[in-house]
Amino acid sequence: MPELPEVEITVRRLSTALAGAEVESALAPGMVALKSIDPPLEAIVGRAISGLRRAAKMPVVEFDATGDGTAPLALLVHLMSAGRLQAFDKRASLRDRASRVLIRLADGRELRLREFGTKQRAWAKLMPAAHIKADEMVATLGPEAWPAPPIEELARQIAQPRHLHPMLRDQRVVAGIGRSWVDEVLWEAALSPFKQGSELEPEEIERLHSALHVLGDAIDHYEEVIGDTVPDKLPMPLQVHRREGEPCPRCGATIAAVHFAEHITCYCPEEQTGGRVLKDRRLSRLLK
Ligand SMILES: [Zn+2]
Repeated sequence: MPELPEVEITVRRLSTALAGAEVESALAPGMVALKSIDPPLEAIVGRAISGLRRAAKMPVVEFDATGDGTAPLALLVHLMSAGRLQAFDKRASLRDRASRVLIRLADGRELRLREFGTKQRAWAKLMPAAHIKADEMVATLGPEAWPAPPIEELARQIAQPRHLHPMLRDQRVVAGIGRSWVDEVLWEAALSPFKQGSELEPEEIERLHSALHVLGDAIDHYEEVIGDTVPDKLPMPLQVHRREGEPCPRCGATIAAVHFAEHITCYCPEEQTGGRVLKDRRLSRLLK
């Protein structure tokens, strides 16, 4: 799933490419993808895209006010695990089964919400731009992970008896981190994914806070290597995530992993768990 750095570079590139372009028509071939009814999707026709921004991992496409005094509109997009928001020079064939929302522009281009795989989970909601903040998906977000919130705020948010790995992915605690970048942040901070937030010493909170720079570094990396168009698969500068069995880039120890039903946690045992390799409990039970 695209996380904060990936969504940030996506909205930056799309904003540059599409600002000022007028909407000619809009449709939602993925019937379940459009979660709002009022205003209807047709309300964006004739408006210009004013830009794109990001709320945590969610892109927001903003449309100008119309001449008749109607308020600016915004499309809040949730990419879920397999959605992508992309601009194309040509219009999609209606047979493109990956299409969820199509915004056709007067200059012939098209902004498309596509979703790979068989599941339809990605969604979009159209609303007055001023309502975005109050939307339940936005209003419940914790502080953005990048730029990092003040350390006192981060400390308050994580002072909970929960493991760091799931807690940092909880968008209500801190917004923008998912399954890939949580491994990177914890590795950078040299903290165990299984340590509880409420157990952290002040010095460990400082390490966690400063480790959030990996998100900003990733954005800088994308700025350098990605051209005008964001590719389907981003060149993510990951050091430990999905690197089980490889040497830790910092100390050379073998990266270990714990496999869960839907995700995997990778860490350096030498630097993060005091030399202990944590067993995958579910798997070892199956193998008994
Ligand atoms: Zn290491």
